[in-house]
Amino acid sequence: MKVSAGRERCIGAGHCAITAPGVFDNGDDGLVVVLTPEPEDGDRQVVDRAERLCQSRAISLTSTSGGRRWARPRTGQTGRPPTSTTP
Ligand code: SF4
Repeated sequence: MKVSAGRERCIGAGHCAITAPGVFDNGDDGLVVVLTPEPEDGDRQVVDRAERLCQSRAISLTSTSGGRRWARPRTGQTGRPPTSTTP
C-alpha cells in the first residue's frame, strides 16, 4: 500500500495524525505530512480509517500489489449514477 496526501486539499483538521500517528503528522503549517509513504500491511486498517475520516479527501491509498486503488469518491460524489429531481 502506498499513501499520499494532497497538501493543497488539506484543511489541517488532524484526524489522520490522530488516527494513524506513525503514518501521518501535521507540519509546522498545520497541514498533513506523510511520515510513512509505504506502511506495513498491519497498518492498513488505521490508514484506511484515517482516509475515511479525512474531511477534505486529501488522502489517497494505492495498492502496491497491482490493481485496486483505494480512493473514495470526492465530496458530493457517491459513485452511483445521478438521479434527477425534476419531474
Ligand atoms: S485528516 Fe485530511 S484534512 Fe485533516 S490533516 Fe489529515 S489530510 Fe489534512
